[in-house]
Amino acid sequence: MAKLSSKKTSQTHRCIIYGAPKTGKSLIAGKLAEHYNLIWFDLENGHETLFQLPEAWQERIELINLPDTRSYPIAIETVLKAVKGKVTICEEHGKVSCMLCKKLGEEKAPVVTVDLPALGHESVVVFDSLTQLSNSAISFITKNQPDDYKLCFDDWGNLGKLLDIFLSHIQQAGYNVIVISHETEAETEGKKKTLVPVGGTRNFSRNIAKYFDHVIYAERKNRKHVFSSSTTYATTILTGSRTGVAIEEGEEPSLLAIFKPELFAKAKAKAKVAGAAGAGVPIQKATSTSAAKASSILNRLKKK
Ligand SMILES: [Zn+2]
Repeated sequence: MAKLSSKKTSQTHRCIIYGAPKTGKSLIAGKLAEHYNLIWFDLENGHETLFQLPEAWQERIELINLPDTRSYPIAIETVLKAVKGKVTICEEHGKVSCMLCKKLGEEKAPVVTVDLPALGHESVVVFDSLTQLSNSAISFITKNQPDDYKLCFDDWGNLGKLLDIFLSHIQQAGYNVIVISHETEAETEGKKKTLVPVGGTRNFSRNIAKYFDHVIYAERKNRKHVFSSSTTYATTILTGSRTGVAIEEGEEPSLLAIFKPELFAKAKAKAKVAGAAGAGVPIQKATSTSAAKASSILNRLKKK
């Protein structure tokens, strides 16, 4: 047995960001490229948003395009292989160890090699989105069925199994992960209707949050993108953070509140020094605007 105090808190984070379409989910994840190398699994061609980022940041994003369709459900196959170990994925088909591309050679058919379990703290893996991954799994399960086929009980069970394999690997991952998803309404304890991230059936969606350290909700309010993560944000929206981060308190919404809390802690220490100088001559002033911003965020957090 180990004492809790001897356990180091995890230096990496597993997040799910969910919400309606066009609520800025991809962009807020993309902004992490200012500080991290991103490996971006794009299942729904959503990467165009990322062109809004400064070019230097775009350089740090490795895009893996998975051209998933009803008749070619490649995403579930490739993603399940990628979370388990080192894989080589072809650009053309998004397929692991693609024989067609191997024949053509790397000159004509470029590939990318990723080893997610071996990633360090300086990388973040993004899966955009879990919604499309579920669709891919459904298409995979019903591959040989006619178009008007209705899923039976066993099919839904298999869908749950595939998603559980993916999410369990995320839950145990030693690297940083962001999974993007959409929203659905599910009944939680006390038959209360609550917004939760979508994945598979409504029943399965109800329990997706348990696989993650941080559950972030994205929405539009007054023409602005708003993100929230504190457990007490709203009674009808599922949110929460293992480390108690409340993104909604920040002036600029940023996932750095989760990924680089030390940036905020430093600002706090600086503000303290400035405050200790008292009414006399200020010894040190927090001059950096970002530090000032962060300390005002922290002050408001304290008041809560
Ligand atoms: Zn290929």
